[in-house]
Amino acid sequence: MLNHGKKQNNKVTNTSSITLIIFMIVTSAILIQGIIWLVDSIYLFKSDIEEVSQIQTDYIKAELRERVSSVLDYSVYKSQEIEMVLKDNLKSRTYEAHGIMTSIYQNNKNNKSKEEIKKMIKDALRDIRFNDGRGYFFVDTLEGDVILYPVYPESEDSNIINLQDENGDYVVKEEINLVKSIGEGYIEGYWKTPNSSNDEKHRKITFVKAFEPYGWYIGCGDYVDEITKEIQNEVIDYVNSIKYSENNSQYVFIHDYEGWELANGMYPEYIATNNYELEDINGAKVLQEQIDICIESNGGYLTHYWPTVDGKSNYKKLTYVAPLPKWEWVIGTGMDISEIDAMIASKEKELESFIWHRILLILIILAALVMISMIQIKSFMKKIDKNFSVFRDYMISAEESLEPIDVEDLDYTAFSELAEVTNSMTERINQLLNYDELTGIYNRRYFKDEFQKAIIKYPDETGIVVMDIDHFKKVNDQYGHDIGDHTLMIVAKLIEENTPNNGFVARFGGEEFIVFLTDVTKEDAIEVAENIRKKIENKYIEAISGNVTISCGVAHSMDNEGHELFKEADNKLYIAKESGRNRTEY
Ligand code: GH3
Ligand code: MG
Ligand code: MG
Repeated sequence: MLNHGKKQNNKVTNTSSITLIIFMIVTSAILIQGIIWLVDSIYLFKSDIEEVSQIQTDYIKAELRERVSSVLDYSVYKSQEIEMVLKDNLKSRTYEAHGIMTSIYQNNKNNKSKEEIKKMIKDALRDIRFNDGRGYFFVDTLEGDVILYPVYPESEDSNIINLQDENGDYVVKEEINLVKSIGEGYIEGYWKTPNSSNDEKHRKITFVKAFEPYGWYIGCGDYVDEITKEIQNEVIDYVNSIKYSENNSQYVFIHDYEGWELANGMYPEYIATNNYELEDINGAKVLQEQIDICIESNGGYLTHYWPTVDGKSNYKKLTYVAPLPKWEWVIGTGMDISEIDAMIASKEKELESFIWHRILLILIILAALVMISMIQIKSFMKKIDKNFSVFRDYMISAEESLEPIDVEDLDYTAFSELAEVTNSMTERINQLLNYDELTGIYNRRYFKDEFQKAIIKYPDETGIVVMDIDHFKKVNDQYGHDIGDHTLMIVAKLIEENTPNNGFVARFGGEEFIVFLTDVTKEDAIEVAENIRKKIENKYIEAISGNVTISCGVAHSMDNEGHELFKEADNKLYIAKESGRNRTEY
């Protein structure tokens, strides 16, 4: 017997290591798939968050820009309007005053003297003030004599034809020329403002109109700066009133390039203070950055961090600023964008729990698939093991006898096919092992095996007949070896046909046969021998144009034991030969 167990242990690839390899392949395939799935989901989620926050930020940016733009547009519109408004205002005022003059003249020209009418006109116009008190009417003659000059009455009746402004222009002469040529119109002059102490010159626009009855002209003027200030105040008032968002927490502010706060819709206390050095919690000079971005890039977005109202935390504020260069203004508005960060943070938390869920799901699926595949692999490997063991058992038992494999025991076609091939091989080997090649009857080896078994089973009822063809050498010599073979086959067949069912015949050697009988008496055996001998004797063999005879020696187990039986039969055969052949001795 081989030591099968030991041999198996020395081998590396037994079925359990194959199982392990398959298990590892299955596990890693599922894991890799899971990881790809996970990474894919994370990527999608992240890009989702980015997209959402981008959309939000873009939306806020657009909103801030829109708010600033509307103030800016309004301011630009207002600033462009200034001269037009100023001119319209001067003109309409002058027209009104001119109307008054004309009316006084018309109503009194027939019954009052020129001096009386002049006084009435002067009285009517002297105290009229407008534009925050800056505006008044003056009346001059076309010769440059002052009729009415309310802010400096001492100059009345004097001649100012040669009056020059700060630039040295003869403004009165210009006025007179204008009135003389087209009746009315605007002229410009540069003056120091009455209540300013510095030497700055201010542009003043004046409207003049002829008063024909007396060869006079009337006019009024105003400083562009002043009206600009008024317009700016209008813009500032408007900005101070703007509030955005549900809780009105968003506002617009204006400061100038020097850091003076001009408007603030939320914190009026800042107005008229200088915040040039104002810093956020990170020490960023907020106004300086705003001014820089306005001057250098015509505006833009800035992010700063401010403490919350309770001072306990900070928030992130996105600000958009744009310049109004004409006035050296920075117009801006901001929004707390901590919400976006909070949104991103909560989304990221969501992502995290999503990832864990996915991992858990992957692990569950992995475990389930691994379990299913393990069950499959196990049952597969068990069957493989069982199928292999069918073959192994076959091989082991082959040492004693070659029994065919039961195909029904096998689970897989490949094994069944292998078993069928093995079975036909077994059959062939059995044939070669047990049968005589020439005659097709059992050989000596088979006989010996069967004899050993039978003698145990039937110790007292076993008989043998040893048969030898008489003078067979002569057949060979006379007809050749092939005819000899042919004759042997015919004899063998005859013996086989006449051997009863409780026995069989085997070729014992060259032209020697042995009939083996069980469950027989010696008499039965002798009868079988005689019957065969006679059948052969009477058989005509065409190839040799005649017959052959055989001599038989019979032995029975009642008389002899084991191998003595052969000796006995052989001796009887010898006696039969000696006694003339073609006979049976016992
Ligand atoms: P006897 O037994 O009667 O004494 O004479 P015999 O001529 O039969 O005896 P012997 O034992 O001397 O010769 C046996 C012959 O059988 C010798 C051999 O040529 C022949 N023989 C043995 N086996 C075969 C075989 O397989 N084929 C052929 N053609 N001849 C065989
Ligand atoms: Mg012989
Ligand atoms: Mg012979």
